[in-house]
Amino acid sequence: MLSKTHSGETTVRYRNLAVEDEAFRSRLVSVFERVLSHGQLIMGPEVEEFERTVAEYCGTRYSVGVASGTSAIYLALRALGVGPGDEVITTPMSWVATLNGINATGAMPVFADVRGDLNIDPAAVEAAITPKTRAIMPVHYTGRLCDMEAISRIAREHNLLVVEDAAQAMGAELPDGRRAGGFGDAGAFSLNPMKVLFGFGEAGAVTTSDAGVVKTLEALRYLGTENKEVCVDPELNHKIDALQAALLCESFKELARVLVARKNVARSYSQGLRDIVDCPEVPAEGDYSAIFFEYTIQADDRDSLQAYLAERGVETKVRHPILMPDQPAYAHLERPHIPQARRLVERILCLPCHEKLSDDELEFVIGSVKDFYAAA
Ligand SMILES: *Cc1c(COP(=O)(O)O)cnc(C)c1O
Repeated sequence: MLSKTHSGETTVRYRNLAVEDEAFRSRLVSVFERVLSHGQLIMGPEVEEFERTVAEYCGTRYSVGVASGTSAIYLALRALGVGPGDEVITTPMSWVATLNGINATGAMPVFADVRGDLNIDPAAVEAAITPKTRAIMPVHYTGRLCDMEAISRIAREHNLLVVEDAAQAMGAELPDGRRAGGFGDAGAFSLNPMKVLFGFGEAGAVTTSDAGVVKTLEALRYLGTENKEVCVDPELNHKIDALQAALLCESFKELARVLVARKNVARSYSQGLRDIVDCPEVPAEGDYSAIFFEYTIQADDRDSLQAYLAERGVETKVRHPILMPDQPAYAHLERPHIPQARRLVERILCLPCHEKLSDDELEFVIGSVKDFYAAA
């Protein structure tokens, strides 16, 4: 059944963050009770368990829980020694958190254009390298892995660091089993309620296999202190709550199911719409190189399509309508040459794609997109 709004219109919500599964909800409530009982609310045993879980899943030796994905991006770069005087090559297509994280280190962002799959183009990365380049920050946009073979090769040849913005890509993996967060020198995850591995507030994690980087990260996340008292490197507070870490350990148990459900939604969309709009490629059975954090079509007449869907009660998003270098805060940067990103940003539209989307809702969205183009 499709849910109804007050005015009686049919609505398909873009995301639904309510916890509807009773068994899952009661597990979350018992986590609250456990943490309230022991009373160690910041850091603590749950954080260590959460960090072990993330590292094991991502195939890295360590992970460090932090306050948000933005903190994770910033701290990962900073712990690897990236700072003023360095250039970091990244994509123009991401949430501005990527750029703000780079900017906060004092390094200079450099933008390399994207490919048709909305991910950074390795050839453009290579062309953007200068003597000042220190790191590459690929973003696995929409949950689709970047071409990490090519990016890793370029990084090796030019002696550059790779820090993945894997905020949208928990669970994305190559057929050989390597996962997002495990390709580079470090990976940064956001675990906020919108993400595929979802917390119930703000949270993030850095993955790495370098014990020295972990030691630095652990100091940096708490004011740059050693042993929680001696400040050796001034920094702000980026710690993660025990409660959030404990809730995330429960969410982790849902991840495999969520990944399967989202891929099924994506496959249905692509089957239903591929003759009408440009649909993202859905990997074959058993292949999770794209996990559909977003299901992003590329459409002619995008704005009219979005307005038409809104009228029908279908909530969609343009993620993100302003390319990062075009944000007003970065007007002082040199304008990058990014024709693909500029073309694509006018065409992208994200359809509702999540594990709670019902078959009826899915059919309704597909039918509505078809109706729009049939009427056009
Ligand atoms: C969500 C997100 C971030 C930021 O994460 P927060 O936890 O909101 O700070 C960074 N990069 C990308 C690509 C994201 O989607």
